[in-house]
Amino acid sequence: MLPILRVCTVVVVQVKCFGQRAESNLHEGVSDFYLKKQIDTIGFICTGSLMSVYHTCGNSKCACAHDESARHGPYNRWTRKVKGKTVTRTLTDKQTELCRECINNYRNLESIIKEMKELSVQYIEEQK
Ligand SMILES: [Zn+2]
Repeated sequence: MLPILRVCTVVVVQVKCFGQRAESNLHEGVSDFYLKKQIDTIGFICTGSLMSVYHTCGNSKCACAHDESARHGPYNRWTRKVKGKTVTRTLTDKQTELCRECINNYRNLESIIKEMKELSVQYIEEQK
């Protein structure tokens, strides 16, 4: 009953172009920070990864017991950490697409935060 899988990372990190790192933004104050405006465009977020999984059912008379290509699936599996524990859920195709979008949103948000941190350090160091 091992969930044997055709595991593929279906999550593709969307590389977002933030445009030029405008020096003037550093001096306009945080309210006009162009990265804050990008955060406004991000919808729901979540963490984790998605997998497409096939498995055998354990019935020795089932075709899956003898033929790898007859294994059951694919099933959409979403795995994430919750309070340090790995939690796995089986999702419908629709849920999988939503989840993929949320994971991409989260990664975009992480990129924005990383850039905001870098710009903030730059801003602090420019102050006299
Ligand atoms: Zn089976």
